[in-house]
Amino acid sequence: MYETLLAVQKEHVFTGATKAVAYRKQQLQKLKTMLQTYEKELLSALRADLNKQEPEARMVEMAFLHQEIDLALESIDEWVKPMKVKTPTSHAGSKSWVATEPYGSVLIISPWNYPIQLTFAPLIGALAAGNAAVLKPSELTPRTSSIMAAAVRATFPKELVTVVEGDAKTAETLLNLPFDSIFFTGSAAVGKIVLEKAAKHMTPCTLELGGKSPVIVDGEAKLKLAAKRIAWGKFLNAGQTCIAPDYALVDEDVYEPFLEQLKTQTYTLFSDKTKEGTYTQIVNDKHFERLRRYLDNGHIALGGQISPQARLMSPTILTNVPWDAPIMQEEIFGPILPVFRYKTPAEAIQKVRSLPNPLALYVFSENERVQRLFTEQLSFGGGCINDTLMHAANPYLPFGGKGASGIGAYHGYESFRTFSHQKSLLKQSTTFDVPFRYKQGKIANTFIRN
Ligand code: NAD
Repeated sequence: MYETLLAVQKEHVFTGATKAVAYRKQQLQKLKTMLQTYEKELLSALRADLNKQEPEARMVEMAFLHQEIDLALESIDEWVKPMKVKTPTSHAGSKSWVATEPYGSVLIISPWNYPIQLTFAPLIGALAAGNAAVLKPSELTPRTSSIMAAAVRATFPKELVTVVEGDAKTAETLLNLPFDSIFFTGSAAVGKIVLEKAAKHMTPCTLELGGKSPVIVDGEAKLKLAAKRIAWGKFLNAGQTCIAPDYALVDEDVYEPFLEQLKTQTYTLFSDKTKEGTYTQIVNDKHFERLRRYLDNGHIALGGQISPQARLMSPTILTNVPWDAPIMQEEIFGPILPVFRYKTPAEAIQKVRSLPNPLALYVFSENERVQRLFTEQLSFGGGCINDTLMHAANPYLPFGGKGASGIGAYHGYESFRTFSHQKSLLKQSTTFDVPFRYKQGKIANTFIRN
């Protein structure tokens, strides 16, 4: 049955209707209006699925999307312009350019942790680039998925955008079809399955994955500010953020004062939420149990309170964690922050390198040499100096991982590029014909010289 849906979407793109800039702007505007119309329902679904509270959801889900749509609406006239490029003099009479065209029908598979943002942000790029799209949101946030499906049904014709609700099986069925591009956000384990399935149809694939993102606190960091920004970035959404600091590496000279600041700042920012029961829930029992087991992996310096029925865990700081403990074997994706000491920057670098490429990296230091050392010597998707998470909120920065943390990028212009095929064109003059090219030996020499 999804075969028909895909055929209808491809047909719609082939008519050329989606190529008109006015059409694309109209769809983006419709998406914006849809988000406004359904905002109340979406926010209450988020509360029901994740206990995510309105002020936080407005900021990290809705405001983010409006910013991306506004940028696309403002910039699309520029983005679609063919890009002129140089032509070597050996091609006398020619000019060259790169045009963009939509892929066709794209499949967007999204996770549960920011279910609205991570479903619709890729859609903005897909629509700006003139594609049709099938969206497969997560089954772990079913109420939010259901409102998203209803909102899309009421806003877009199915030949342009459709939501298919379902679990891994549904996603696998969709992945067996010849979509023209796949955009997947989720775990590395599932990312590998997606890539394998995409290979069958040679479908271009963007993978937005996760990993263990370190935060490094140098001896020359402003400790109070560092602690505050780290606590916020880590414990927002109960640590269920793909770019949340996963673990902290702290210069041993400032370890004790930093730890004190981290405890104070975490308590100040989150204790009210924990007491009121307004802190974000852990998504399901399986993840709750996984996180609960991690609490035994070290000394609880702060937090550790749990409420299994409500799936609530207070922001927790762990110290004295062995580097080979289970908590360091996989992405934590919950409100637990292990804090380690390092003696030298070389030791911190070696520790980060011993794990797969992280999605994000954060360095806190007032010393520019130290900032450069860590950001240049280590490989990671993207990150911040003296902040956490904020690189993902700047639509002028491409967002994506490297290796184990992902393939490809999006946000802002990069979303448009990700969902566009780059079509290279060379136009040759017909008013003259240089005989040179037909002389094989000579042209070979020319190419070698060039
Ligand atoms: P997940 O990989 O379990 O699921 C993501 C999506 O894939 C869901 O829609 C799910 O239904 C689908 N899926 C599950 N099994 C599948 C299969 N066998 N075949 C095809 N599709 C399948 O991830 P999750 O638990 O929803 O999300 C958490 C992970 O996502 C974390 O690793 C996190 O770091 C990562 N993440 C990354 C980003 C990013 O932007 N890079 C953002 C958010 C989350």
